[in-house]
Amino acid sequence: MSDPLRRAAAILTVDLGAVVANWIQLRDRVAPAECAAVVKADAYGLGVARVVPALRDAGCRTFVVAQLEEALAVRAALGPDSGARVLSLGGLPQGSEAEFLANRILPVLNHLGEIAAWRAFAGGQGRALPAVVHIDTGMNRLGLGPDELDRLAANLDWLQGVDVQLWMTHLACADEFDQPMSAQQHLRFQDALARLPRALASFANSSGIFHGKPFHFDLARPGCALYGVNPTPHRANPMAGTVRLDARVLQLRSVDSPMTVGYGAAHRVEGAAKIATIAVGYADGYLRSLSGRGHVHVDGVPAPIVGRISMDLITVDVSGLPDGAVRPGGLVELIGPNRPVDTVAAEAGTIGYEVLTSLGRRYHRVYAAP
Ligand SMILES: *Cc1c(COP(=O)(O)O)cnc(C)c1O
Repeated sequence: MSDPLRRAAAILTVDLGAVVANWIQLRDRVAPAECAAVVKADAYGLGVARVVPALRDAGCRTFVVAQLEEALAVRAALGPDSGARVLSLGGLPQGSEAEFLANRILPVLNHLGEIAAWRAFAGGQGRALPAVVHIDTGMNRLGLGPDELDRLAANLDWLQGVDVQLWMTHLACADEFDQPMSAQQHLRFQDALARLPRALASFANSSGIFHGKPFHFDLARPGCALYGVNPTPHRANPMAGTVRLDARVLQLRSVDSPMTVGYGAAHRVEGAAKIATIAVGYADGYLRSLSGRGHVHVDGVPAPIVGRISMDLITVDVSGLPDGAVRPGGLVELIGPNRPVDTVAAEAGTIGYEVLTSLGRRYHRVYAAP
């Protein structure tokens, strides 16, 4: 059989060493607080099956996902004997209590109904069962709102049977360092904690960590920064890039008269030009909004994407590159040292999170071990 790496249309290289180095940097930054790893959405597209064992071996003891199915995948990746905690942010789907218990997954209880359901289930088990309780301090998305918090504080027996491992909340504007929302949420969280039974607390996502010590509480929950997205926009990125995406040149053609390129004839070439067709498209999560806006790098030199992104292909104007720099069968860089995720995201009109979580399933994946 031919070499899969040589025939691959596009190659996604995940640097697990960089993921681990990023986690260690954040762990040291928040110590003595604990540093969890948010691995929802298949570890932001990088792959839970490889990312979770790498972080476990580096010493990470708490993993966070959004859904029960994801939590089960993390449990499987951890292996049966792992003492690591797995938190599922999306609450307690109806009738799923036994699944949480059997797989040692901590539900994040987001409203009084879920607290009541967990309490009832614990009653049936004849013992208190661990869970996390989410308090909404300004997102208005998930968590106990102000009314529910008042009712809980007035009826603390509603927590009987709920072994609260953590009170948590989530920042709305963590990546904006010059506005007051984060400080307001901090105050509301402190007020809530003062009215509730003592337990550990969790506040900061990636950007929240960079607001400093008072925002670290007992457990930080970084996600994007682990994967190299800049948690401090408008400042230098303190994190290492973790993914590299290279795609194959399928054809190179020279044109020398006015003509158009691609669907919708969206790009018009006026004179002599060289157009390279590259084997990646929106079916790979290479966002269509990069049409006519994105760039690729060849030997460190940028070349503009022209025309529309199609399902499997993009077209790039490589006229500015020396002859021979682009050859059919060669590779160009779409994400990597010259093209950080945040740069690609800016060109696509989105955020690094979306670029990563869109990474396709069709890529040939290579994992560089820590
Ligand atoms: C996704 C998520 C995180 C991680 O956020 P990042 O900005 O990626 O660090 C933390 N906490 C909650 C509740 C989340 O939903």
